[in-house]
Amino acid sequence: MRAALNYGPNDTRVEDIPEPVPGLGEVKVKIAYCGICGSDPDIYDGTFGLLKAPWWPKPPFQTGHEASGVIEELGTGLLGDWKVGQRVAMNFRKYCGACYYCRNKMEQFCENVKSYEAGFAEHAVYSESCLYALPDDVSMERGAMLEPVTIAVHAVDLGNIAPGKTVAISGAGTIGLLVMQVAIRAGAARVFVSDPMPEKREMAMKLGADWTVDPLSEDMVSVGRAHTDGRGFDTVFECSGKLSAAEQCIHLADKDGTVVWAGSYPEEVAFPIHPYYMFANELTVRSTILAPFVFPRALKLLSKLDLEPMITDIVPLEDIAKALARRKTSTAIKILVQP
Ligand SMILES: [Zn+2]
Ligand SMILES: [Zn+2]
Repeated sequence: MRAALNYGPNDTRVEDIPEPVPGLGEVKVKIAYCGICGSDPDIYDGTFGLLKAPWWPKPPFQTGHEASGVIEELGTGLLGDWKVGQRVAMNFRKYCGACYYCRNKMEQFCENVKSYEAGFAEHAVYSESCLYALPDDVSMERGAMLEPVTIAVHAVDLGNIAPGKTVAISGAGTIGLLVMQVAIRAGAARVFVSDPMPEKREMAMKLGADWTVDPLSEDMVSVGRAHTDGRGFDTVFECSGKLSAAEQCIHLADKDGTVVWAGSYPEEVAFPIHPYYMFANELTVRSTILAPFVFPRALKLLSKLDLEPMITDIVPLEDIAKALARRKTSTAIKILVQP
């Protein structure tokens, strides 16, 4: 089968490899689509912080963790009533359920996690615990958005949103726009979005933003405060992964506000935090890496969110290296890879 293999920084090749075989508790899925995550271009060019983690596979390794597809083969010992031909979307991590973190409602830190991050391929094997059956009204394209929707749902869970609250979002990529849609459904009454690309600001307005700003030509903090009588926002989501934005978001929050850092940030950079400012404003800062225990809720939202306008590009698997190389500077929002 054809599959993308990462041989190191800026060297991803599509090659023929043997088809995976489902083992105990696993199924084999024919991949329909696999989305390019904000982390994939960092994995591609070698800047992703977790590449240095001891558990990260050595090159060449497969990637792709936002996949949908059709079950084509069942392994042994399955507990669920899975059927060949069934349409599914996948989580890419199997949690053990037995370690300290799994037993304490923090499966995202599972000490025995098994990764199934191999969706940029014609076929992939998953643990049945990664599978979610897609309802009939959810297309395969929407199915490939399940994992990013879980990230947005978890971020909103951390954001202390209630009906009538004000929200600011830094970054109108996939995560920023999904966070916005979920936050509005959770009751956010006014939404301010910051992004340097006019196409993305336009998309944010189309999907429900009240105001946008170009942070490269105007000061995001003073423009945002001007929209809120100088106070700032009840909740601020940082979804761009930019260090400067992570710092600015603290100053965009109102007193008693919540800041959620929902981006992935470079490992070796930092900025000063002023304890006096935190003391004087009673701020809460949260951060996210993955989305524990929210896939079932995200699945129910999949048919309700406005996702089609966000899927701006569908590229063939053979072109994945080009798509990854261009990702950081392109105006695309969600790019789906089609094997
Ligand atoms: Zn991701
Ligand atoms: Zn565990």
